[in-house]
Amino acid sequence: MKVLVLGSGAREHALVKALSADPAVSAVIAAPGNPGIEQIAAVRSIDPNDGPAVVALAEELDIDLVVIGPEAPLVTGEADDLREASFAVFGPGADAAQLEGSKAFAKEVMSAAEIPTAMAHVATTIDEAADALDAFGAPHVVKADGLAAGKGVVVTDDRAAALAHAKACLEVSDRVVIEDYLDGPEVSLFVICDGSTAVPLAPAQDFKRIFNDDEGPNTGGMGAYSPLPWAPEGLVEEIVERVAQPALNEMHRRGIPFVGVLYCGLALASRGLRVVEFNVRFGDPETQAVLARLETPLAQLLLAAAEGRLDQQEPLRWHDDTAVSVVLAAENYPDSPRSGDPISGLEEAADLPDAYVLHAGTRFDGNREVVTSGGRVLSVVGCGADLAAARDAAYGAAGLIDWPGVQLRTDIALKAANDEIVVPEGSRLF
Ligand code: AMP
Repeated sequence: MKVLVLGSGAREHALVKALSADPAVSAVIAAPGNPGIEQIAAVRSIDPNDGPAVVALAEELDIDLVVIGPEAPLVTGEADDLREASFAVFGPGADAAQLEGSKAFAKEVMSAAEIPTAMAHVATTIDEAADALDAFGAPHVVKADGLAAGKGVVVTDDRAAALAHAKACLEVSDRVVIEDYLDGPEVSLFVICDGSTAVPLAPAQDFKRIFNDDEGPNTGGMGAYSPLPWAPEGLVEEIVERVAQPALNEMHRRGIPFVGVLYCGLALASRGLRVVEFNVRFGDPETQAVLARLETPLAQLLLAAAEGRLDQQEPLRWHDDTAVSVVLAAENYPDSPRSGDPISGLEEAADLPDAYVLHAGTRFDGNREVVTSGGRVLSVVGCGADLAAARDAAYGAAGLIDWPGVQLRTDIALKAANDEIVVPEGSRLF
């Protein structure tokens, strides 16, 4: 099987690594990939958002499966273009990708399918937004309606800041979503879907804020771990039964079957399990931790989803150990990250037995040295028998890597390792 992976982040590096390990795979090609991916697969410098160029590349290479990493090409219909050209594609078409592309659409689907989620008001004027903020009370949750790379959401006790974000959202869109605040720990569950059957991967937790103790602005994600030692028994089954399968059924009923990853972001809130968001692709940085443990060959699984054969899928197999991924970000991320700094320590980190480095915002400079080139620069993945060991492995490797202004959180998976995560009593439906 020849697999084409679109994208250039650490998520795609993790995908390429796992796909390459599948014995059914003869070649993996990434477009555009990155310097890390280039060490393990072929890369082609094609813009993943350029539909005709991607179709032409898939034709040229005689590709058997296309895996679309990022949300942007999904929302603009790249999967549709590729399917029209008769390729097997893992990723939803433009209509189904609206589950991520429009928070208002996602809310409407959840309501139709009776999926538990935060109460929300879609406001079209600033006065309406202000009334909704007051009706829900603090903490305030304000969300841009369109794609915002995880940075369109503001959660704050400060009403003026909430209103200012609502105003900024209404300047670029005619809608802003105001939500009720959800307390309780968050869970990310990736569910592999073929339009009707849902196959969950292992649950993960990610860390959205830039600083330790969840301080500072939201980012694309600063780290993750999987599985969740504190997860109540039956949590994954409950999420599939109450969230993923009803969403799949509702999309099917609407004539827009969902093929790809349905990323269910949930809160185990004291009022019950609630969906925070749907995404329509693998999450970054959770993918780095989740795929580190997957034993089932990934390409065969994703091809079965693309071809509607998940009802015949055998139960997934997982390594017993635990994985932690830690993101190393550039100075000034998430605002205006600095680029072009030489990265030291990559070779030393590569020699460690229980850790590896995945590239994201990196590039080669004129001397083929790897330099920073984006906000989230690297993901370091550590594996171990438990979270403490996986943290040691990940931070041991991260400590070897350096560039001016590098930022990382030092508390990824720390509370879970210390058994300090409290699951509210009322959060369970089963
Ligand atoms: P989203 O883009 O909707 O996933 O939101 C990004 C992050 O904001 C989530 O992962 C949560 O940490 C936080 N968030 C979003 N919605 C809520 C909510 N209703 N209550 C509390 N936190 C939220």
